Amino acid sequence: MHEFSIVLNIVEIAEKEARIAGAHRISAISLEIGRLSSIEPAAFRFAWKQAVRGSMLEHARCTIRYLPGEAACTGCGLVFEIKQLYEPCPGCGLFGPEIRQGQSLRVCSLRLEDEPAFSLHPNEAAAEPLTQPVAASKPSPKKF
Ligand SMILES: [Zn+2]
Repeated sequence: MHEFSIVLNIVEIAEKEARIAGAHRISAISLEIGRLSSIEPAAFRFAWKQAVRGSMLEHARCTIRYLPGEAACTGCGLVFEIKQLYEPCPGCGLFGPEIRQGQSLRVCSLRLEDEPAFSLHPNEAAAEPLTQPVAASKPSPKKF
């Protein structure tokens, strides 16, 4: 399933952008997927749930906009919507039009949050050795 590696790639791109912006998590992401990109929507959704686990995108709302394929005939110049890569021009029947839109996947926008959603190491602070000796080992005399 190639959708899985595509999602991992998106995670990589999004996390890089988030880090540059100083954010700790991503609350929303919007994608544009071309109809000719060979990404199957159901497989993509399934892969998404698996691949974002443990990443900054884990709790992000994902909005996908599917772009229709658009091609221009190299013979008659007709611009038409193309559903599959190997489709002839509906005007003159010529094969091999120039694909203008619909083959790419693009990360359009990210909504970043600078507060961490949760601490990855909640016990880290408590586990740190104390730098100051504990004063309680030599209790200060109580005055009554
Ligand atoms: Zn044509």
